[in-house]
Amino acid sequence: MAYITCKDLTLGYDGRPVAEGLNFSVSKGDYLCVVGENGSGKSTLVKTLLRLIPPVSGTVEYGEGITQKNIGYLSQQTLVQRDFPASVREIVTSGCLPSMRKPFYGREERRRAEANMERMGITGLAGKSYRDLSGGQQQRVLFARALCAADRMLLLDEPVSGLDPRVTAEMYAIVKELNGEGMSIVMISHDVSSAVKYASHILHVGYRPLFFGKTEDYLGTDVAKLFLRGNGDD
Ligand code: ADP
Repeated sequence: MAYITCKDLTLGYDGRPVAEGLNFSVSKGDYLCVVGENGSGKSTLVKTLLRLIPPVSGTVEYGEGITQKNIGYLSQQTLVQRDFPASVREIVTSGCLPSMRKPFYGREERRRAEANMERMGITGLAGKSYRDLSGGQQQRVLFARALCAADRMLLLDEPVSGLDPRVTAEMYAIVKELNGEGMSIVMISHDVSSAVKYASHILHVGYRPLFFGKTEDYLGTDVAKLFLRGNGDD
């Protein structure tokens, strides 16, 4: 069974549709990039997948024991977050909060935080203040935090263009590495040329559904050719 299955899904606010007729699924090890014009409903889809807003119609089903609690969500970093005055270890460990039954960290949470810092190669930064780190290091901290919440699926809102290209490239490398280890990825992507390079599947959203399927099949479609050209990539 898939981790997420969306059937005849219409997204929107207060009963007013933003995008309709979405049919897609995300399974173990998939890397799905969600692309589309600005305002096409990508962020609305994220909110719907995390059950922060209800669908206008249709269904979002979780399978294989996945719930919104064990989907790791990484939002775009705000300037305030970048200046957050906590240690790396504190920030990473806070990723355990959604799944905790007790109101304080125990041995299991500390073990998980250490394991994920190790996985992201930031053990040596554990005692440092988050705001003193480089952009790339901060990103690794946020990934380690998300991994404390989720061990099977990550949902990422990709940074918009204008952010440091090196940090963006590093983010793609981390995501590819995690996907290679079997983690399922759903990434909202504003950069369609990177999306088609890395993703196994593409969902192209618009008011009417434009495409869902394997990346190699997407590349042959007219909508992909037009969209890639629009992104200055022909
Ligand atoms: P994208 O992420 O693809 O740029 P969004 O999902 O943010 O697009 O927005 C899709 C549409 O939904 C837009 O027309 C936007 O104005 C509208 N929208 C976004 N947030 C809200 C909201 N909280 N209430 C009502 N309409 C909204």
